[in-house]
Formats: sequence, C-alpha cells, structure tokens
Amino acid sequence: MALGKDYARQECSIARALEIVGERWTLLVMRDALYGVRRYNDFLVHLGIPRAVLASRLQTLTEHGLLAKRRYQQSPPRDEYVVTDRGAALWPALRALGQWGREHFDSDPLRYFRHADCGTELGPYGECPACGTAVPLPDVEMVPGPGLDPDPADPVSRALLKPKRLLQPVHIETEPAA
Ligand SMILES: [Zn+2]
Repeated sequence: MALGKDYARQECSIARALEIVGERWTLLVMRDALYGVRRYNDFLVHLGIPRAVLASRLQTLTEHGLLAKRRYQQSPPRDEYVVTDRGAALWPALRALGQWGREHFDSDPLRYFRHADCGTELGPYGECPACGTAVPLPDVEMVPGPGLDPDPADPVSRALLKPKRLLQPVHIETEPAA
C-alpha cells in the first residue's frame, strides 16, 4: 500500500524506497529473510506478527522483487521466500540502521556481524575494515551478543543462538532443545 499522495509527490529516492519498505514490519521481514528465515510459519513465530499483515508484507516484497517465492513441497503445496539480489542489496542500509540503533539507543549489542574470513566486526555499511572490502552476504557470520534475550518458546530464536552465515537457511529443530 502506498504511503499517500504527499509521499508520492516527493522527488526523493528515500521517499521512493519507503514506498516499498517503509510500512511497519516490512524491514523486519527483510531482516529475518537475510538471517535465513524462509518459511511463512517461521516468520510468523519469530516476528509475532498478525497473519494477515505478514501475508501482505510478503506479497509486497515479492511483487517488488526483494523476495522470490520457491515451491519446496508439492503436496500440499508449500512455498518458501528466498532473498533476491535486489533484496540482498538492502543489507548495507539495514546494517547502517542497526548500527545507528545500537549507537544511540541500545547499551548491549544484540548480535555481532563479522567477516567470516578474518573474524573482524563489520563496519557500518557491511564492509570489512580489516580487508577493506564489501563483504558478500554468504561471508557474513552472525553471532549472538550479550544483549540478546531469546524467546525460549520460539524455535527460530533458538536456532539463531548459534553462529551462522547470512542467507544460510535457519535450521529449525523439531524438538525443543534439552
Ligand atoms: Zn575481513
């Protein structure tokens, strides 16, 4: 849904981008997708989002080419949502937004993002300060930080307690961890 005529009249690329990703929950859906969440139910439990809102956001992100639907089961038919190149290109903006939030509003880091090759914490735009390069998403390792307070009832939250690479599908355990 568009933000409104006033926004649409803005001659501004930020306003244009917000037409796509500026609705509540949209950036968090993209965050989870970059973390490796792919399935509707996994987004649902991890975000705690109303079903209709999640369905609407996934549709918007798919329509605009940030996510692509992929059928992983035929009977009954089930689709998963995979990050496209256009969706992956949002990562530096999300990284910068997260760094801004950490710097101004959080005391303890919730997650660290490191260049897997060298172990260096990424800079504010997803670059590696040690290697001097932009780090491809599959080479970004995410590690829980001291401020993280996972929901023990949420299997996605539990799965994200282990270090993993961005985009790598989250491994959901069917049994609660002992
Ligand atoms: Zn590096």
